Amino acid sequence: MSMAEHKSYNGKVKFGKTDKIKFLAAVLAATAVFLINPKLITTEKDKNAPEINRRLLAWGNTALESPRRIDTIVIHTSYNAWGRDPFDVEGIIRQYKYYEVAPHFLIDRKGQIHELSPVENVADHAGRAQMPDGRKNVNDFSIGIELVNKPDTYMTRDQYDSLAGLIKDLGKKYPIEHIVGHDEITTIDKTDPWNFEWEKLNYLLYFESGR
Ligand SMILES: [Zn+2]
Repeated sequence: MSMAEHKSYNGKVKFGKTDKIKFLAAVLAATAVFLINPKLITTEKDKNAPEINRRLLAWGNTALESPRRIDTIVIHTSYNAWGRDPFDVEGIIRQYKYYEVAPHFLIDRKGQIHELSPVENVADHAGRAQMPDGRKNVNDFSIGIELVNKPDTYMTRDQYDSLAGLIKDLGKKYPIEHIVGHDEITTIDKTDPWNFEWEKLNYLLYFESGR
């Protein structure tokens, strides 16, 4: 670098014309590299983002022409009622297909998060429901998260950890104001999330940092 060569008598750095052009070229090159490869601008926060298995379903969700406003997360539980293994993810997805429904995320017993609908899409998970503030059409402004669990079993610690991590990550991207159980908003007969321990989720969300 030849900047030192252009030091003038008052000690201030003077750029020569060639230096200016070189500098500008370097800035443009660096900008181009960042634009082409967004991984280079990954922040510390992104490293904490949960690992998500993208497995998008062709049914039960609809892409919109303009972005939707999301302020609610609805928590559900599901299990495979038709097969031998009640916790089998593929069996649960077959059921969703039969009923033409889909959540945005499904968290299996090991805590693996499966993304089944893009968050930007409206997904059919809440059915007929109404928020405590009176709003209906809850699917329009919510994200649906299903956890693999039966009415007579409890969720695993890994599931709570993954759920908290996912909610924290979504909270960075969307102005989430409400986290509700399906049973709190249904206007029909939904009873899930079964055996859901809200205090465990609240502890992970508000008292434990990281993840
Ligand atoms: Zn539900």
